[in-house]
Amino acid sequence: MVKLPYPIRIAAGALDGIADVVSQAAPKHRVVIITDDVVARQYGARVAQILGVETSAVLSIPSGEQHKTRQTWTDLTDRMLAKELGRDTVVVALGGGVVGDIAGFVAATYMRGVPVIQVPTTLLAMVDASVGGKTGVDTPAGKNLVGAFHQPLAVIIDPAVLQTLPAEHMRAGFAEIVKHGVIADADYFARTSAFIEQWPLSGAQGLAELTGIIERSVEIKAGIVARDERESGLRRVLNFGHTIGHAIEAATSFETLHGQAVAIGLVAEARLAERIGVATSGTAGVIERVCRAAGLPTTLPSIPVDTIIDFTRSDKKARAGRVEYALPKRIGEMAGADRGWTLPVEDAVVREALSS
Ligand code: NAD
Repeated sequence: MVKLPYPIRIAAGALDGIADVVSQAAPKHRVVIITDDVVARQYGARVAQILGVETSAVLSIPSGEQHKTRQTWTDLTDRMLAKELGRDTVVVALGGGVVGDIAGFVAATYMRGVPVIQVPTTLLAMVDASVGGKTGVDTPAGKNLVGAFHQPLAVIIDPAVLQTLPAEHMRAGFAEIVKHGVIADADYFARTSAFIEQWPLSGAQGLAELTGIIERSVEIKAGIVARDERESGLRRVLNFGHTIGHAIEAATSFETLHGQAVAIGLVAEARLAERIGVATSGTAGVIERVCRAAGLPTTLPSIPVDTIIDFTRSDKKARAGRVEYALPKRIGEMAGADRGWTLPVEDAVVREALSS
C-alpha cells in the first residue's frame, strides 16, 4: 500500500476495531459521530457503543446529495456549539460520500479545524471520497464549490457494511472503480470488468474479491494524492468523467446520482478525447460496455446540451473561460502529461461530441 501520512485500514469487520483506531489517532479527544439518517439506523448505535459514547454524540443529517449544503453545515456546527464541543473534538464521519464531504468540511472549519476520521459506508466513498482530503458542499451554482482540503487522521474501510447498501448505490460506486482502471492500470480495468460481469457475487468469495478491488482502487487514488495533495498537477487525472459528470448532477438538480453522472461523463469525455485525436479509437466503446454491464447509464439525460455546457463553465477546472478536461489516451493511461494533465476544449467541440 502507498504511504500516506495517515493509516487506511481495509478489512471485513474493521468497524469492530474502530475504538482502537480512534483512541490511537486522537487519544485525548471527545468523539462526535456525523452520519445520515439511513446509516444512523443501520450502524449509529453500534458504532457509538463500540466507541463508548452516548447516542447523543451521533449527529444525523437527512440522507441525500440535496442536503450537502451550506445550510446543513450551519445546522451541524450549531449543534456542536450547543454541545460546547471544543478544539479537543474528533469528528467521525460515518456514511457515504455526502457525509464524508460535509463532515470533513465541518471538521476543517469548526474552531478553525479539528481532526476527522473517515469511516466510509458506500462503495463510492470507500474507493474514492474518503481518501484524499477533499471536503465541501454544493451550491446552486455547482458541485463542491465551497470547501477545503482537510486530510483525515485515519480511514477505516469495512466492506462488510456494503451488504446493506442498495444495489443502485453499489452500481454508482463501480463508476469510480472503472475510472481508476482507465486512468492508471489496464490490468486492473480488465479485472474489474470481469468482476462487474459476474456481480452480484454473493458470499465470502464475492466479499474477498470486492475487498481486493477496494484495496487496489484506494492504492491508485492514494498514490496519486500522495504525489499531488492539492491538485496542482497529477491529481487532476482523478477528474476524468467529472467535468461533464458534475454538470449533469447540477443540471438535473442532483436527481442523477454522483456515480451515475460520472459514468455518463466517463463515456462522453472519452468520446470527446477520441474526437480531438487524443485517445485511441475504441476507448470510449470499451468504457461504455463496462459501465452498461454495471447497470450504469451511459447516455445524456434529456436536458439541452447547452445547459450541460453552461454548468461545465462553473466547474473549478475552468480556466480563463476555457474548460479544462482530464482525458484518457488509452485504457490505463491519461493524456496531457506535458501540460499539467488537462487539456482545454472549446465549447463548440464539446457540443459536437455531446450531440453525436
Ligand atoms: P451518499 O453519501 O448519498 O450515499 C448513498 C446512499 O446510501 C444514501 O442514501 C446513504 O444514506 C446510503 N447508505 C450509505 N451507506 C449505507 C450502507 N452501508 N447501507 C445502507 N445504506 C447506506 O452517496 P455516495 O455515492 O456515497 O457519495 C456521493 C458524494 O461523494 C457526492 O457528493 C460526491 O461529490 C462525493 N465525492 C467526493 C469525493 C472526494 O474526493 N471528496 C470523491 C468522490 C465523490
